[in-house]
Amino acid sequence: FEQGNAGPLVAAIDQGTSSTRFLVFNAKTAELLSHHQVEINQSFPKEGSVHAFHSNWMTSIGVTNQRETTLVWDKETGEPLYNAIVWLDLRTQSTVERLINKTPGRNKNHLKHKTGLPISTYFSAVKLRWLMDNVDEVAEAVLTHRAMFGTVDSWLIWCLTGGKSGGVHCTDVTNASRTMLFNIHTLDWDPELCKYFDIPMEILPKVRSSSEIYGLMVSPHCLCKSGSLSGIPISGCLGDQSAALVGQMCFQEGQAKNTYGTGCFLLRNTGAKPVMSDHGLLTTVAYKLGRDKPACYALEGSVAIAGAVVRWLKDNLGIIQTSTELEKLAASVGTSYGCYFVPAFSGLYAPYWEPSARGIICGLTQFTNKSHLAFAALEAVCFQTREILDAMNQDSGIPLTQLQVDGGMTSNRLLMQLQADILCIPVVKPSMPETTALGAAMAAGAAEGVSVWSLRPEDLSEVTSEKFEPQINPEESEFRYARWKKAVQRAMNWET
Ligand code: ADP
Repeated sequence: FEQGNAGPLVAAIDQGTSSTRFLVFNAKTAELLSHHQVEINQSFPKEGSVHAFHSNWMTSIGVTNQRETTLVWDKETGEPLYNAIVWLDLRTQSTVERLINKTPGRNKNHLKHKTGLPISTYFSAVKLRWLMDNVDEVAEAVLTHRAMFGTVDSWLIWCLTGGKSGGVHCTDVTNASRTMLFNIHTLDWDPELCKYFDIPMEILPKVRSSSEIYGLMVSPHCLCKSGSLSGIPISGCLGDQSAALVGQMCFQEGQAKNTYGTGCFLLRNTGAKPVMSDHGLLTTVAYKLGRDKPACYALEGSVAIAGAVVRWLKDNLGIIQTSTELEKLAASVGTSYGCYFVPAFSGLYAPYWEPSARGIICGLTQFTNKSHLAFAALEAVCFQTREILDAMNQDSGIPLTQLQVDGGMTSNRLLMQLQADILCIPVVKPSMPETTALGAAMAAGAAEGVSVWSLRPEDLSEVTSEKFEPQINPEESEFRYARWKKAVQRAMNWET
């Protein structure tokens, strides 16, 4: 790696549900120069496996993270007071029921006009309420003013800027908009929402834009062999789905992307105005790229289980050893043979928001084997995306003509082809798959005081991509989709 080849460097920390990555980009070309990944249940990265970059070249660092996942820590000891509660965790179901019972008309959309969200296990306020009700250490730290609440971005930035010795306690508008404590119109914490969840405002981080200098990296967070990253500004922060929207350069109203990771998240840029959905979608802050820049909003369809179903086939059923084997297995039959698999392991998110739904596999015959099941699992991801896309087209009145995609699952080419077949529109995948990290790096590099990355559309690098065109006829696609819808009804009412 030659210094002469590189423009200014910008790094990104991508803290996802299945792994944490550190990536380095060239701010002139958006080229990914190096990356390192640690699976989430592994505790330490291997010594010496991080590339050596001279820290003089590193201009800034951006953070992107799994959203909603909730932490509370003690600001005096610097230690978390409980494990992080991950976004798709269902332990808060009784908390949700209790909250909905005290809500006028038992309306789960009671807070939607301010938050853009339904009351659900998914969002941070409910997880925080659960922690305060069920973990003595958390309750006591709140009472004694030692508690700090944060999503993963806040925790990382606090730790990296010094932790208990003066770390910066902040979040950005995109992460804040997933807590249910944040008013997406005023772009601030909302006292009424905090009162509804009975959460003291003093434990909340300060809300900042997605692109500004939050603080400087402090030793001992030395990530380089050849020099410390100490003193480098952390100047970008975006929830992972917002970061992917930025990384896919969906800056125009109407542009959309779908990310296939643990879950699946389709976001459509709606410009400067928050649009409220009539079809079960969320309204969320897409990004605010600078303190004085306007906020941009998005409509979002969230699917809880996408890549997670692959993990389930691997870890729970043992029918594959690695995620990549799934494609070969499914391709060996090329059909589900009439089998439909609704992986409603954590209830169903958009457009249903039905926490009591549970997974089902139906249409089995004596002939069905693990290859058909593998195919049905891939189809499930595609059908769930189709439901979101239909809702989005109905809300906006303007049908999407192609879908930009990214995320770990998009390396599965069969999945991409199936998706084009089931949506009946082309699916476009960028050659550089790390769009989430790229978005965070762009936000960091564009921040005032760093200014090594231009976000003007005319300066942005040309993106090379691969296009998957629909190959089956729409009637066949509609037939399979109609069957899927029936299976979803069974998943929602399987107990009755
Ligand atoms: P996250 O950001 O949620 O951690 P990633 O974007 O890293 O997720 O994607 C990881 C997910 O993608 C895992 O759930 C994994 O099972 C799934 N995955 C990875 N490769 C493949 C593949 N070739 N086929 C199907 N699923 C895959």
